[in-house]
Amino acid sequence: MASMSSSLSRDPLSSLSPLPNSSKDYSKVASGTLTFSGYRSTLSKVEEAHLRIASSFGRNPKSRLEASKEPLGLTQEHSSTELEQQEKPGGSLDPFSPLKRRFLRFKREQFLENQVRFKDLAEAQEPKFLVIACADSRVCPSAILGIQPGEAFTVRNIANLVPPFESGPSETKAALEFSVNTLQVQNILVIGHSRCGGIRALMSMQDEIDANGSFIKEWVVIGKNAKLRTKDVASKLSFDHQCSHCEKESIKQSMMRLLTYPWIDEKVKNGFLSIHGGYYDFVDCTFEKWTLDYGWSSKDDSGLLTKDHSFWS
Ligand SMILES: [Zn+2]
Repeated sequence: MASMSSSLSRDPLSSLSPLPNSSKDYSKVASGTLTFSGYRSTLSKVEEAHLRIASSFGRNPKSRLEASKEPLGLTQEHSSTELEQQEKPGGSLDPFSPLKRRFLRFKREQFLENQVRFKDLAEAQEPKFLVIACADSRVCPSAILGIQPGEAFTVRNIANLVPPFESGPSETKAALEFSVNTLQVQNILVIGHSRCGGIRALMSMQDEIDANGSFIKEWVVIGKNAKLRTKDVASKLSFDHQCSHCEKESIKQSMMRLLTYPWIDEKVKNGFLSIHGGYYDFVDCTFEKWTLDYGWSSKDDSGLLTKDHSFWS
């Protein structure tokens, strides 16, 4: 295990970049092809667009020009042979083809190029981070922060919530116990995000009874304190803005909830563990980050004080 003091003396998140360049490239492709627009442009849609572009090569010079805007790595992946292989007999695309292609690219460009590192990882993991993020498909921590294999133990759940210590078992609590007590991570990062469907479900609930019979509602209701605080201070805002407020409020609540776990509280108090919050806005692609200031925070979610606030844009 590397020295904790040396790792804690500098910002541990400074090595995590908010977005790889490739994402910007994807948006350029999206606007360049005019095939689709807006932030819903996902990699799979980009690739679908590339397939359409590729099929028109030789007929449409404009398409060829637009296709040249795509990242070099993707261009190389789309040989005509591969495109033919992706097509199923009925004309539909195999949804696993892009995954297979990306896996083989990962093996070729990362695994085989860094065999010593991956050999060490095969023996043991020693991540510095536990990341708690939403299960939302648009909020992949590895994609937006460039987290590499071995860097972060990660648990994702709807609305990136931390259950109270006193509640029953959950996968999030198991991940906390393992990562903090066994792996001895030095940082816990709770990542919330814009337009969170889980927070919207929480804000839409009439009361806790409304949760009966719905796994989703029974889960998100553990963020009810964030909802109550939002209603207290932002009730005059539109529902959308209330949801945005609650997204950040729930991150704070999750951060404070972590201190209700005695073994987390002990490590934070002794300086072996830091708790951080992050908010990823995927509408304008920004990332806010802050750190819990333990000495000045009370142990309920109304008393969170933070330090080292930064805004990545
Ligand atoms: Zn979410």
